[in-house]
Amino acid sequence: MNYYSLNKKAPIASFKEAVVKGLAPDRGLYFPKSITPLPKDFFENLEHLSNAEIAYETIKQFILPEIPEAELKKIVEETLSFEFPIVQLNEKISTLELFHGPTMAFKDVGARFMARCLGYFNKNNSQEITVLVATSGDTGGAVANGFLGVKGVNVVILYPSGKVSDIQEKQLTTLGQNITALEVDGVFDDCQDMVKRAFLDEELTSKMQLTSANSINVARWLPQMFYFMFAYKQLKKKFKNIVFSVPSGNFGNICAGMMAQQLGLPIKHFVASNNKNNVVTEYLKTKNYNPKPSVQTISNAMDVGNPSNFVRIQEIYKNDFGLLQNNLSSYSFSDAETKKAMLEIYKDFNYVADPHGAVGYLGAKAFLKTNPEHHCVFLETAHPTKFLDVVEEVIQSKVELPEQIQSVMNKQKTSIKIKDYSELKTFLKSNH
Ligand SMILES: *Cc1c(COP(=O)(O)O)cnc(C)c1O
Repeated sequence: MNYYSLNKKAPIASFKEAVVKGLAPDRGLYFPKSITPLPKDFFENLEHLSNAEIAYETIKQFILPEIPEAELKKIVEETLSFEFPIVQLNEKISTLELFHGPTMAFKDVGARFMARCLGYFNKNNSQEITVLVATSGDTGGAVANGFLGVKGVNVVILYPSGKVSDIQEKQLTTLGQNITALEVDGVFDDCQDMVKRAFLDEELTSKMQLTSANSINVARWLPQMFYFMFAYKQLKKKFKNIVFSVPSGNFGNICAGMMAQQLGLPIKHFVASNNKNNVVTEYLKTKNYNPKPSVQTISNAMDVGNPSNFVRIQEIYKNDFGLLQNNLSSYSFSDAETKKAMLEIYKDFNYVADPHGAVGYLGAKAFLKTNPEHHCVFLETAHPTKFLDVVEEVIQSKVELPEQIQSVMNKQKTSIKIKDYSELKTFLKSNH
């Protein structure tokens, strides 16, 4: 499959080029040249297929033949070595738990898939690739874990000092080997800006192969289509009119859901559930797209002031506001509302949600209020213990640490502090 840049000023790229480059030379995000719907009977038979079979069918048109069939099947199987269960809360609302991977964040799937693609492309090649990634919380850990030990790939993670949870910080600062954590004196947007700047810095890019493992990278973004297929597989017999409420930050996950819908998955509508970083909520209300600096919230992985994947959503809907509005609603919630929802979910359903999932739950409820004839699935994007302080404070009860989390808590943090772009550049140059 070929990819074009959404800025339309860069050459067409192969899948490999798009993955290795991350961002196109004109700073645009890559988008697949075509999207071919899957046959109807694929969706009719979904419940008879394994997750790996579903995933392979879903993603193959975007990748073959650059990764051969057998190899792609293996990558998909290895990527998906854990469960994606639906938990039904009541007749109207279910949650899809996306936190059963090694770092207990939904980003595990994209990170593991991308790492294996890069590993494949690099297997005969001695040129080292440096993966540069900014994280507002969960990306860092998932990428670090997914790429750990991948030959020929060095990973450099930028995270905002003091603005990720303790567990998140441990997950990205304790692995060592080919993983380095840079602790930035600033907010997530500063980290993201520095990463974008590095990609445009010819002095760096002429000497080293830099790529991104944020959801701007097609190999991180596209595998997220799988979740929506897996949810549908579990719910299709029970409910009609399935709607997804997606806790959104950079809008990669929800945009992947929209891609799954383009492939023919019968999804009725999407809800982008936001915290107080609500550019998209405001856009759907006012038609004005007005990026703002991010504000800090308890659902910190969604503290994004200028969601990078929104341009992809615009492309899917051909920049037609009416078309978008028909398929997407968006609501924004405060931390106080989020905490109240966490308590409500615990009391009413005996279910412990993390703050991101709770925002998704609120979005589901808000949508159902005016559209009752639907079943709404909110994505539970992180395990509640990753936000232990706020979760235990709100539900007034202890939650047990799963093994994946326990194992990092006693490890020693190693990070390098940086203040600005020049320090990032010095670091990258000295390590090449
Ligand atoms: C990254 C993340 C999100 C937001 O996903 P996007 O694809 O950036 O919209 C939501 N919740 C958690 C826990 C995350 O880590």
